Amino acid sequence: MKKSMSLEVRGTVQGVGFRPWIWRLANQYHLKGFVRNTSQGAFIEIEGAKEEVETFIHKIRSEPPENCVITQCLQSDVLPKGFRQFQILASEDNKAREALVLPDIASCPECIKEIFDRHDRRFLYPFTNCTHCGPRYSIIEALPYDRKNTSMKKFTMCDDCRKEYEDPLNRRFHAQPNACPVCGPKIALWDQKGDALTTPLESLPAAVDLIKRGAILAVKAIGGFYLMADAANDDVLAQLRERKARPHKPLALMMPDLAMVSRYCHLGSLEEKLIASPQAPIVLLRRKQDGLKVSDQVAPQNPYLGCMLPSMPLTHVLLRMLDRPLVATSGNLSEEPICTDNEEALRRLKGIADFFLVHDRPIVRHVDDSLAQIVCNEPMLLRRSRGYAPLPVDIGKNCDGLLAVGAHQKNTVALGIGHSVVMSQHIGDLDNRVSSAVFEQSILSLKSIYDAPVRKVICDLHPGYFSGQWARSLKKDLLEVQHHHAHVACVMAERGIKNKVLGICWDGTGYGDDATVWGGEFLLTDGPQYQRFAHLNDFPLPGGELAVKEPRRSALGLLYGLCRGNWQEYKDLPCVKAFKAQELSVIRTMIEKKINTPQTSSMGRLFDGIAALTGLCLQASFEGQAAMALEFQVSEGPSNPYSYKLVEENGGRCIDWSGIMTGVIDDVRAGREISLISKRFHQTLLEIIVDVARRSGQSDIVLTGGCFQNRWLLEHAVERLKREKFNPHWQAGVPVNDGGISLGQIFVAASLPADGRRE
Ligand code: ZN
Ligand code: ZN
Ligand code: FE
Repeated sequence: MKKSMSLEVRGTVQGVGFRPWIWRLANQYHLKGFVRNTSQGAFIEIEGAKEEVETFIHKIRSEPPENCVITQCLQSDVLPKGFRQFQILASEDNKAREALVLPDIASCPECIKEIFDRHDRRFLYPFTNCTHCGPRYSIIEALPYDRKNTSMKKFTMCDDCRKEYEDPLNRRFHAQPNACPVCGPKIALWDQKGDALTTPLESLPAAVDLIKRGAILAVKAIGGFYLMADAANDDVLAQLRERKARPHKPLALMMPDLAMVSRYCHLGSLEEKLIASPQAPIVLLRRKQDGLKVSDQVAPQNPYLGCMLPSMPLTHVLLRMLDRPLVATSGNLSEEPICTDNEEALRRLKGIADFFLVHDRPIVRHVDDSLAQIVCNEPMLLRRSRGYAPLPVDIGKNCDGLLAVGAHQKNTVALGIGHSVVMSQHIGDLDNRVSSAVFEQSILSLKSIYDAPVRKVICDLHPGYFSGQWARSLKKDLLEVQHHHAHVACVMAERGIKNKVLGICWDGTGYGDDATVWGGEFLLTDGPQYQRFAHLNDFPLPGGELAVKEPRRSALGLLYGLCRGNWQEYKDLPCVKAFKAQELSVIRTMIEKKINTPQTSSMGRLFDGIAALTGLCLQASFEGQAAMALEFQVSEGPSNPYSYKLVEENGGRCIDWSGIMTGVIDDVRAGREISLISKRFHQTLLEIIVDVARRSGQSDIVLTGGCFQNRWLLEHAVERLKREKFNPHWQAGVPVNDGGISLGQIFVAASLPADGRRE
């Protein structure tokens, strides 16, 4: 029996070799008809034997090509048209705003094989790519995704490349960035003045030689500049840290292949799959005790190493030639956005890099490396950028025209299109001029690429955030969303939760609706509204922002609750000894007179305080340093939790932490190991989670906020909640830190009744 069908395939099907794959599949099953790209994906018509048509459709649904995400496949019977063959037709040239923009994709195995094949015309060519791999988001200027709308437009394909580009059976059929040594981008090696040191051909071997001899190289890759140096060289890394003003924060490593990674770190099957995926993120891997060692400067006192594999031919060739781990950290100063432009890099990285390995393909937008870890047996993104942005998140409700500007740190912005939220790449902390400018550019570029009108802007409640001030200045319809409400809503958006939940949101800082600093929150929410069901008891934070850099100040704020500023009682503790007598009396006055001393319920600061009480970390050079140090100390031996009280007061509930404090102080005075204290503290947090969950009467429990980047805490909380018959939910594909706030903000706005009516 004959059958004729049409198929409308929606999702990420353009620029991934979908049409040639369909062409081969149709021929395999002797089907006639055509396939073509549309503004929403692809459209297929086929005619042939009924079983073969059905198998064809089944294959599309069950085994689509790699990197191809099918969100919808609408099929209908159509009248037979008597096609004589199966053809790939030209694209319908209409509005393309619903077609998805693809992220940058790491080099595929076929391309890697070619660049290391002496006889291939692309031998060692740093910009080799095909329809399965290569840059996308970082080179797109406008839709539809055609070469003329990318930064490849200035390179004209040679005859050989054009032949590949036009042949439906070739792996490079319509590969927009297709290039070769004859016609494509070229590299150059510059000194600090921007003068070329060698010919383009000699640049790579010369760069390799410089790194071997201990130089710091700025390397222009796909989404921006890296700073690269030999990961075994203590001196050069100490220099890099000093020049970059980054004394302790871990540096990422790049290694040539999985085999080398496994000589330094434990590589389980999930980790292996993630690090070698087309997204190629940095993956946090546990170091091998008996494995090979990199310099202590890479990640001081950290049992994990952030490792990645090369994601473009340039870094593949560089790493293969060097055959050793390199530090590959973002090309910026401190928390600024990474450099993308050659001249800009010369200016901004002048005092940091000794030499510059650049190329002449412009980067349209900066895209950092993504960062991930395996937790609860699945990948958890801590920074969602290269390989992931700007893939949309379907939130199952109308959010068209909503623009969310995110929080202040680890900023991302998001734009609603239909039921999908397009989240920007990681932008960074908005407390410097460079990142504020990139923030504005990112919004403009999202709006223009999707040609999307904005009808409502959503920002954080905090009056001082740059993002909020920018949003308010637009004078558009505005919604302010409380920080922790947005955190919880982000999990609901990602996991498709529609019912009421208890959201446990623990982080460093968020502006509360009572104008204090929140961060140890238990919120009841069904999406649009929330109720503060419980929170950590407030404590004073002498110095405010300064306390983030000085965990010893959080410790004093907590101690004040016990001794009312009579520090003498605790003069034996490391966190008190860390201050001069005069400083102690100033801090007491600050707390009592409320001078630059906000009240906070922050769990992040409680972590800081405990770490400082034990003497583990008194001063920090990056956010989360003290909490990470405490997490890394947790022992696996048996121990008991500390005591705490849950106090009910006029409708709310407070967690009184004074029992935790006295317990920790007793343990410190008794000379007990920090690993035991850390374990008891973490265990207490599990007790609090289950206790509040029971009292809330909810079964769906959301765990979110930066504190849940802590693997021990998240894994044990999930396991414990499951054991107690709750349904725990946590973040995986969207950052649990403030990088997820923009998505949560859109979810809250889209859940409001006024918006719901638009569905
Ligand atoms: Zn490829
Ligand atoms: Zn060419
Ligand atoms: Fe937060």
